[in-house]
Amino acid sequence: MSRIAYVNGRYVRRADAAVNIEDRGYQFADGVYEVCEVRGGRLVDERGHMQRLQRSLHELRIEIPMSLAALGAVLRETVRRNRIGDGIVYLQITRGVSRRDHPFPAKPVPPAIVVTASRLDVAKSEAMAAEGVAVITLPDNRWDRVDIKSIALLPNILAKQAAREQGAREAWFVDEDGRVTEGSSSNAWIVTRDGKVVTRQADYAILKGITRGVVLEAMKAQGLELEERPFTVDEAYQAREAFLTSASQTVMPVVRIDGKPIGNGAPGLVASALRRDFYRFAELS
Ligand code: PMP
Repeated sequence: MSRIAYVNGRYVRRADAAVNIEDRGYQFADGVYEVCEVRGGRLVDERGHMQRLQRSLHELRIEIPMSLAALGAVLRETVRRNRIGDGIVYLQITRGVSRRDHPFPAKPVPPAIVVTASRLDVAKSEAMAAEGVAVITLPDNRWDRVDIKSIALLPNILAKQAAREQGAREAWFVDEDGRVTEGSSSNAWIVTRDGKVVTRQADYAILKGITRGVVLEAMKAQGLELEERPFTVDEAYQAREAFLTSASQTVMPVVRIDGKPIGNGAPGLVASALRRDFYRFAELS
């Protein structure tokens, strides 16, 4: 857990860190966030995360409160002050503080920023990847702009909780046509029996994962065949392999979906190779 947090221009002890009760993030989930992996004290794919942040802010018409370079410096300083080697840095920007009223504040207010950093247990993650994880499927009941990385995550947390209660690591959302969109906090992938890697195209129905982008690069280099299209839950049950991707997990093999073993029920070769090669294609800064 973060011992030092950056809150609106100051580095403060976590115990002293606080936001205003009229913060529109608290009142309306009116804000966006990013999670960037930290590896050996360096940021993984900072550029991609900052570009996506800019896009999310733009879509919600929230001003970017400082230059991307300055924001990068804050992320790094928060990592440094918390002495994070391997972990994540979390950044949240909300529309700011204003008396509770649905429309945007009539007089512009400065956006509010919070940055925290925390450790991840790499050995634990490796052990999990060696075993593979279970996922469940659930109807996708989110809004139609999940391409924006908004802090409004109620369907996501309910889905994740349902997964936990069923002994699974992740929940995959399924659209009205029975096709998987993505996980509650990760992108979803399968490998078909004829060796094609399938993941949904990044339109409005999924968040365009930064890890997803790196994996696409790694796949190209490994000569794997890609199909960017939706896949059905049935296709996933029949797949040779499945996996998920996110900044905090990189590539995580999936070995069970809704209790059914995928392939031979062990992590697949494609997922394992992509996980192994991930940092060769990620940008560390
Ligand atoms: N989809 C959702 C809904 C997510 O929350 C995340 C993780 N932030 C992802 C996909 C994966 O994105 P990334 O690879 O950038 O972490």
